[in-house]
Amino acid sequence: MPRAAYWRAEAAGITCELCPHGCRIAEGRSGLCKVRRNERGAMVLPFFGLVSSLAVDPIEKKPLHHYLPGSNVFSAGFVGCNLRCPFCQNWRISQEIPASLERHDPRSLAEAALRSGCPSIAYTYSEPSVHFEFVLASMAEARAVGLRTVLVTNGCINGGPARELLALTDAVNVDLKTWSPEAYERVLGGRRDTVLEFIRIAAELCHVEATTLVVPDLSDSVEGMRSIAGFLASLSKDLPLHISAYHPAWNHGAPPPPSKLLGELAIAARVELRFVYIGNVAGEAADTLCPSCGSVVIARRGYHVDMKGLAVAGATGRCASCSAPLHIIV
Ligand code: SF4
Ligand code: SF4
Repeated sequence: MPRAAYWRAEAAGITCELCPHGCRIAEGRSGLCKVRRNERGAMVLPFFGLVSSLAVDPIEKKPLHHYLPGSNVFSAGFVGCNLRCPFCQNWRISQEIPASLERHDPRSLAEAALRSGCPSIAYTYSEPSVHFEFVLASMAEARAVGLRTVLVTNGCINGGPARELLALTDAVNVDLKTWSPEAYERVLGGRRDTVLEFIRIAAELCHVEATTLVVPDLSDSVEGMRSIAGFLASLSKDLPLHISAYHPAWNHGAPPPPSKLLGELAIAARVELRFVYIGNVAGEAADTLCPSCGSVVIARRGYHVDMKGLAVAGATGRCASCSAPLHIIV
């Protein structure tokens, strides 16, 4: 069984150093994420390469709106997670271990992605960072065959491994689930400041977009959204923020937030950021507007993408109307 990185042996077991939980794991037991295990005093990876789902998705579904817009991405999901968000849409793979899993090695997964014809591969659905070793190896193989790499993550990973992972990542979408450190810990079982540090590192190393799911009593305050947008704007005013509507799932039955509230949150975020999108609402347009002249650069209806307003200049886009440079990677 493959050995893990980022752990240390101790008298009463081993301590995992991958994420801020720092699980102390006794012989024969697994950490909180369920996928890292102590066997005979060493941390091993029983779920290395075990994939719960493979699919070809529009890249807008990750969501990434400023990275290869209009393209498809080969998406791989695993099992386990180091958070326990009560509204998790993917709880059947994040909080439970499904019976049918398919084993891949890093190269075979990259080859499957290449055969799909997609220009990129995404590690997504449950939390990929708890499979740090496999994702790292798979990203290296994917890059070797000419694919771009996409990470969709909760960002709850310590700085050292985060740097390693992000050095091989081309684009990341990271959840910033609430501005409240207390709610991060009590409701989600995570650490806000670890996520903020992850986003800072990501902004140095790759293309970054952020998502805040609007959940009643967790992330629905205008003041909290202002703080989230202010933090992201301190890294770049061009960092796209997706304000996404929560829908009841798993252990959370509260009704979804009204569209009016999402609009108010978006207005608050736009004081700080130039690209703010509302997602997960039927019929809601998520167009990209040129911040200089206001023209529609990319029109989106659901996953239909029309890029007539985008002029390509090298690897990035410009507004076709006024030629303003845009941080959109094409
Ligand atoms: S990665 Fe898993 S085992 Fe390691 S500290 Fe985090 S939750 Fe615990
Ligand atoms: S971080 Fe994502 S996968 Fe994990 S419990 Fe929360 S919503 Fe589910």
